[in-house]
Order: sequence, then C-alpha cells, then structure tokens
Amino acid sequence: VCKRSGLIRSIAEPMEKTVYTTKVLRNGNIAKLQAGYLFPEIGRRRSAHMQKYPDANVISLGIGDTTEPIPEVITSAMAQRAQALSTIEGYSGYGAEQGEKVLRAALARTFYGDFGIKDTDIFVSDGAKCDISRLQLVFGSNVTIAVQDPSYPAYVDSSVIVGQTGSFEKDVQKYGKIEYMKCLPENDFFPDLLSVPRTDIIFFCSPNNPTGAAATRKQMKELVAFAKANGSIIIYDSAYAIYMSDDNPKSIYEIPGAREVAIETASFSKYAGFTGVRLGWTVVPDELRFSDGFPVANDFNRIMCTCFNGASNIAQAGGLACLSPEGLKAMYGVVEFYKENTKIIVDTFTSLGFQVYGGRNAPYVWVRFPGRKSWDIFAEILEKAHIVTTPGSGFGPGGEGFIRVSAFGHRENIVEAARRLKSLYK
Ligand code: PLP
Repeated sequence: VCKRSGLIRSIAEPMEKTVYTTKVLRNGNIAKLQAGYLFPEIGRRRSAHMQKYPDANVISLGIGDTTEPIPEVITSAMAQRAQALSTIEGYSGYGAEQGEKVLRAALARTFYGDFGIKDTDIFVSDGAKCDISRLQLVFGSNVTIAVQDPSYPAYVDSSVIVGQTGSFEKDVQKYGKIEYMKCLPENDFFPDLLSVPRTDIIFFCSPNNPTGAAATRKQMKELVAFAKANGSIIIYDSAYAIYMSDDNPKSIYEIPGAREVAIETASFSKYAGFTGVRLGWTVVPDELRFSDGFPVANDFNRIMCTCFNGASNIAQAGGLACLSPEGLKAMYGVVEFYKENTKIIVDTFTSLGFQVYGGRNAPYVWVRFPGRKSWDIFAEILEKAHIVTTPGSGFGPGGEGFIRVSAFGHRENIVEAARRLKSLYK
C-alpha cells in the first residue's frame, strides 16, 4: 500500500513465478481497486525523469505534503509530554479511545463554539484518512455512496474495499454503484442536486481536494436540505477549512439542522504540519440516528474501541498546544505562509492566461488545459520544467483536462517553479 497526499492505492506487484500458494482466496473487493494507479505512477515517472536528467533540480508540487517546520510552541509541548513519560508521575499508558477530555473540550470550544457540538460528540483520532475508513466500517457493505467528482480518492477506495461498489468500469473510469457528482467550473464546482439520485451516504469535502473550491453558505444549506429530504448522511471532510479566505462556512454545523444529518471529519495534518505526527478528529453528533433511531455515535464509538486504541498521548499534547492562544497564532502563521505560496502559483498561471481555480480557500490550485489529457500535461511540465504536479484525472473522471498544483513547499522552490512555468508557457 502506498501513501502520498491522501491518495492511496494498492500496488499490484507483478506476479512472479509462484513456488507455493496458500489456499486463501484474495479479497475480491481489494482486487477491484485500480492497481498502481496514481501516485505510484507519478513516482515511477519522476524516477525515470531523474535518471534521464540526473542534474535537474526537480521540484515537487504534486504530493501535497506539508514542508514547513512545526512551531516551537507546539513541539515543545510534545517534547515535554514525551519526557514526562520517563517519570513515575508523568507516565500514562492506554488512554480513552475517544481522546483526552481536555482536548475534546478544546476542539469543541475552538471550532464548534456556537454550533451545538458537545465535547462528547468529538472523537480524537490518528487522522482523517483513518477515520474515513473506520466510518466505512460503521456503515458496512450495504449502503450506497455519492462522491464529488473529482475528489480525494480515499472515499472511493475505502468504499470499494468494504464492498459497497461494483467493478471498475474502464470506459467511464468509474466504479459501479457509486454516484459521481460532477463538480466542474460550469456548475461552480457544486453538484446539481436536482439530478443527483438518492444515496445513503454523501461524501462532501469543502474546501475540496483537488479543486480548491469551497461551498458557499447557500450551497451548504442546499446540501443539508437535500440530505434531510432523502434521509441521507453527509460525511463532511473539512481537512482544509483553516485555509478559507472567503466567508464560507468552515464547519457543516454552521448550517442549522446539520447535526441530524452530518458527520464531520477534520485533521491537524494541514493545520499544523501534523502529517507525520498524526492527529485528527471526527464529530458524530448524538442527534444523528439510523433509521431505527439508534445513535450513529454509539456504533462509531464501538468501531473506535475495536479498531483503534486512542491517539498517541504525545500527539494529543501537541494538538492541545495548537489550540492554546499562542499555538493558534503560530498555526495560522504557517497556514498564512502556504497561502502566500498559493497566491504565487495562482498569479503565475493567471498571468499566463490559463483558467485557474481554487487557491483562495485551499492550498491547491486547479488549472484547466482545455482539450488536453491530464497525463500529457503532467508529462509536459515534468519534461520541460522539471516540476512534478498531479494529473487531475487521478481524482476521478471529472478531473480530466486539469492538473492540481500544490502550494506546500519552501518559498524558494515555489518561486523557482513559477519562473520555470513562465518560461515554459510564455
Ligand atoms: N481529507 C482530505 C481531503 C485530504 O486531502 C487529506 C490528506 O491529504 C486527508 C483527509 C487525510 O488527512 P490525515 O493526514 O489526517 O489522515
């Protein structure tokens, strides 16, 4: 399994001549996954490129991993907690599977102050991606799902793995039984809900990875009303909410009635550079019920207790420090740095006359190349500018003809990438 920028793909090793096989059948659902598809392929092409041009300074704006150091005020809290583990008084073993009380309370206060979310609705975890898969376990194989197209691949892949889908249909580049809600510039990156069939679950990410589009308050009201009318559950991914510049909702619970139809998953990964530290959270309000009236939170709690043993105590100390007044200030400082990077990338493509989307509310810039294939654009930029981007088609068929450019990078690399792009497309 390969992890990069949230794009997770199972890599099918080439079948070598087998000497011995067990009698265990391969999980047919995992076998449905498209093998070695996006990031392994990008990695392969990057390596081939570096072999061809050993002296090239390749700049990666593809992966979407954070690059800047975590502020001291946050790491020192983690260091302190780690050192305390060497003392009798400071040692602690397993903690609550739902997370430390103080952290749950701080999350509720900081991000959901006025929206009726209680500490006990919040489950602290090792990250949003892990929670997405655990939520799939809660719902099981009999539910139907809808995703934005394009979207973060973990929704689709985890759905395939738990057996909610049919096979991959090559001609349309979609899995059977998944509802792909087209999100293009033509519909303001918001699905035409009148034409979307009912599904049990609706994955919705705002600001979106990869398009960078953030839903407006009006659009989110429509989404919540749509879910309510259909008796569906929204899994709202707010991993990039802190990057919002426009006055759009940062949490779905800003919309009245959302607590009855929505789960929200979030993460410190892109907030505080915790992609390696690992810390996130998921909100499951106790108002959210299954058709028989049973609280969804109870089943999520059961899954957390069975499949997870609580987030690292050191990481939780870091999370708590992030939410202190100094921590928040430091965290916003790093986010602001990436937002300046984003602006450089947006300005670069705009000045070259491209149709440029995203960027204002997310650290991703979504650039359109009408009539061209994403992989061809990727290859062109790599070959001629030594820059790695991400082909939009890797996020779903709706991403064809686009590339995603990530703003996570050291400033000198972003500036140099801008210079090379300007000379390539001038
Ligand atoms: N959700 C989205 C939309 C993402 O883009 C990512 C990471 O790139 C994640 C979730 C994963 O977050 P975490 O690092 O908390 O697992």
